[in-house]
Amino acid sequence: MARSSYKSYKRLLLKLSGEALAGTVHGFDAETFQRIAGEIKQVVETGIQIAMVIGGGNVFRGKGLVEAGLDRATGDHIGMLATVINSLAMQDVLEKHGVETRMMSAIRINQICEEYIRRRAIRHLEKRRVVILAAGTGNPFLTTDTAASLRAAEIGADLMLKATKVKGIYNTDPKTNQDATFYRELSYDQVLGERLGVMDAAAVVMCRENEIPLRVFNVLEHNALPKIASGESIGTLVS
Ligand code: UDP
Repeated sequence: MARSSYKSYKRLLLKLSGEALAGTVHGFDAETFQRIAGEIKQVVETGIQIAMVIGGGNVFRGKGLVEAGLDRATGDHIGMLATVINSLAMQDVLEKHGVETRMMSAIRINQICEEYIRRRAIRHLEKRRVVILAAGTGNPFLTTDTAASLRAAEIGADLMLKATKVKGIYNTDPKTNQDATFYRELSYDQVLGERLGVMDAAAVVMCRENEIPLRVFNVLEHNALPKIASGESIGTLVS
């Protein structure tokens, strides 16, 4: 496996989509949670620090609720609470694997978890705790991809990993087009210019402006996460 762009990572920002947590079905897939937790544990044991941003698409998405007649801001508040649900579940599973975690929310829900304070998050990471960042940015009209790129910049992550259910970035949707071309590497400007739709533009711009490389990979592929953390070029690298 190619290791061309390998450098030893110190701190990773892992963005896990809600859909990836649903496995191949809707809601929670227990086997997927367990496996991902096991893989995160493997990475943390190598000394690499991990902060996670978890999506909520398997529970609620703001846009879907707008279609159901709710205001966008209300839908997005519900969507952010969906990320809290996923984060709580992931925290529990990680702790059962013996991984010390701290969950921090961008919306204050102090009975459930800490509120997000950047310097405190960094301190937790330095103490080898996996930091789970819930509730996105805390603001409606945004996504957890934007939250992930913002937090990656704030905590000084040296790589952002976007864990999805597809192999990486294609020129068109591989689910509907069998001839879709897969990219191993792209520039930020190619992703933006060709409107590759892998992430919202704000998130890509945030990575570009802060020179944070982004790797998009299929988290349903077993052990992809520890392999990437050890330098393998799995999925698509945007840099
Ligand atoms: N959301 C938001 N602001 C944020 C992050 C998320 O309003 O900063 C809401 C938005 O409604 C979004 C939902 O939370 O649809 C769940 O996040 P997302 O769709 O990014 O989850 P994923 O697709 O990764 O599962």
